[in-house]
Amino acid sequence: MREIVIISGKGGAGKTTIAGAFAHLAENAILCDLDVDAPDLHLLLDPDKREESEFWSGHEAVIRAEDCVHCATCLNMCQFDAIEFSIEGYSVKPFRCEGCKVCVELCPAGAIDFPERKCGHWFVSDTRFGTMVHAQLFPGEENSGRLVTLLKQQARQRAEAGGLDLVLSDGTPGIGCPVIASLAGTDLAVVVTEPTPSGIHDLERVAELCEGFRTKVAVLVNKWDINPAMTEKIEAYCRDKGYTLLCRFPHNRAAVDSMLERKVLTEYDPGGLGTLLKQAWKDTLALLEK
Ligand code: SF4
Ligand code: SF4
Repeated sequence: MREIVIISGKGGAGKTTIAGAFAHLAENAILCDLDVDAPDLHLLLDPDKREESEFWSGHEAVIRAEDCVHCATCLNMCQFDAIEFSIEGYSVKPFRCEGCKVCVELCPAGAIDFPERKCGHWFVSDTRFGTMVHAQLFPGEENSGRLVTLLKQQARQRAEAGGLDLVLSDGTPGIGCPVIASLAGTDLAVVVTEPTPSGIHDLERVAELCEGFRTKVAVLVNKWDINPAMTEKIEAYCRDKGYTLLCRFPHNRAAVDSMLERKVLTEYDPGGLGTLLKQAWKDTLALLEK
């Protein structure tokens, strides 16, 4: 079984548009949306939820008002400004609590509980392109490498059980803990970038991470025509590093229009932009075999 993840050095580079089209073109694949902070793939794939599970991660402090002796130790010691005092007494603002446990340890009355924190749900769904594993965090919950790892494990297990030979994931943007979790065990990363100074900077950073994981890198330049000179610079960088340049993808309104119609680009414009993406997908698969 092989794994491909679509990533970008930052959000908004067009990663999900490409992931949606590749999901359409992939055969015998399980789909996975690892971008749990901004899960957009479901907008394109319209999943029909088949299984739903809770996601618990970390802990949060909860003050038992009846045992609190109003000493203000927790208020003074919390580095995250998560404790508040009101007419009803001391309480914890759950969205601010980082679960550091300092208040729990220092409370002289032992009045602070420290239960596990329910952060959201994850799902296994049917889509018109096959099974998808995805998640929804509660508002205010931050992206979590643990959730990304869990989704990947579920996708792998289900691919194996179903005799599927590919896990295709819409990865997380950036270079933090979630993208590290996205890359672990992945064979090939398709990095979607834009021809801007920050785009090339982000590409360099994320490609470096891929190298750390010995993950092959292929690059797709989105909106290449907004800055052809910068596109050439990206191409020169890819040649220098030995990364495959999959495709120069033009700036277009079709990506937005297709999303409004809840279609992927290869469905919305099969003969035009779809042709470019079909070739990019063919080249991606060929690269996987090298
Ligand atoms: S440290 Fe404990 S006893 Fe003191 S205010 Fe906070 S909850 Fe109440
Ligand atoms: S667990 Fe840490 S972050 Fe949360 S309220 Fe206590 S001291 Fe503040």
